[in-house]
Amino acid sequence: MEKVDQQELLNTASTAQMANYRPPAFVLSRGQGRHVWDVEGKRYLDLTGGIAVLCAGHSHPTMVQALTEQASRLMHTSNMFYNDRGIELAAEITRRTAFDRVYFANSGAEANEALLKIARKWQFLHGAPERTKIISTHGSFHGRTMGALSVTGQPAYRKGMEPLVGDITFVGFNDLAAMEAAVDSKTAAVLVEPIQGEGGLTVAGDAYLQGLRKLCDDRGALLLFDEVQTGYGRTGRFLAQEWSGVTPDACALAKGMGGGFPLGALAVTEKLADGLPPGSHGSTYGGNPLACAAGLAVLRIMDGEDLIARAETTGQYLSARLHSMKEQQGISAIEEVRGRGLMVGAKLKESIPVLQVLVALRDKGVLLTRAGHNVLRFVPPLNTLPEEIDEALLAVKEVLTHAPTS
Ligand SMILES: *Cc1c(COP(=O)(O)O)cnc(C)c1O
Repeated sequence: MEKVDQQELLNTASTAQMANYRPPAFVLSRGQGRHVWDVEGKRYLDLTGGIAVLCAGHSHPTMVQALTEQASRLMHTSNMFYNDRGIELAAEITRRTAFDRVYFANSGAEANEALLKIARKWQFLHGAPERTKIISTHGSFHGRTMGALSVTGQPAYRKGMEPLVGDITFVGFNDLAAMEAAVDSKTAAVLVEPIQGEGGLTVAGDAYLQGLRKLCDDRGALLLFDEVQTGYGRTGRFLAQEWSGVTPDACALAKGMGGGFPLGALAVTEKLADGLPPGSHGSTYGGNPLACAAGLAVLRIMDGEDLIARAETTGQYLSARLHSMKEQQGISAIEEVRGRGLMVGAKLKESIPVLQVLVALRDKGVLLTRAGHNVLRFVPPLNTLPEEIDEALLAVKEVLTHAPTS
């Protein structure tokens, strides 16, 4: 293999790429399972899961084969034509969920754009054009496009981008009374994540979600879930909504859906089947056969390797180990352990700088990410092995034992 100069690549990155991210000073070029290698051959245990995306890990052979085969057969058609893979994937999703129809997008933000547009359009088409208000929650994250950003309840992401889409209201997460006070005769829809991901792994109570369902039904508003991060087996159920038994009217999916290939979707119940009439919404790439082949491969791996059940048991193992670190092993840096399945957050004490913890973990060859305020986030591949969890937690324990309490 040709020798690559990592520093030269980093120099080029610093002048050729926008500075909107803050990546560490190495360049990845290979991945396999739960490991990645930089261009100099240094290996890392990667439990970031590409931010809850790589549900089958890096370069799973089934994914590689499906993508290679599909690339040589048919990659793209545009939405002017049906393609076989798209139809198959839509049918698979409707078979596995309470939803009846699927619209394909290319990312989480795009899935949420479709979600917001169908909510207003459906009300418009069903005799309630005055229902335009969307109610979202503080601490939520729904993406970076103008529409998705407009319903994202975190000021830092919005600053300097205003004015955003109008008629959006925010209320406290997990606060049913606040939602009751906000939903009125002008409300198109209520939007929540079953677990706030970027916001810090805060789980929505089952009773809260059930209360939202009843509230929306009583007052003629639609209930929308953003399962971009919680969906696709992440929490130990195909969709996180199964824990509460609540089916929203529409739901956004992405992240795990393509297992690393850009793919997202809006899934709706039959009630909203006519919500996007011809010409009302679309995407040139959305549902392209290559992306849908990746999506079908993800589902085949999920079934063949029992990934949803493994997400539940491995997630329980991870949570229990973190709890025991906090309770039995005296790692007082951990304030709280929360989440469901393999979507787990260890909230660190205020005095522990989480970014420095991540740097120290990287030095030990373990990649993790953060969420919200001071939360160490675990959203690893669903096929992560218990011994890989052990290896990561050993490093976490060492780092937190010696963590600077700034
Ligand atoms: C990541 C995420 C998004 C945005 O997805 P992109 O693919 O980055 O556009 C939206 N909603 C939730 C809940 C997410 O976690």
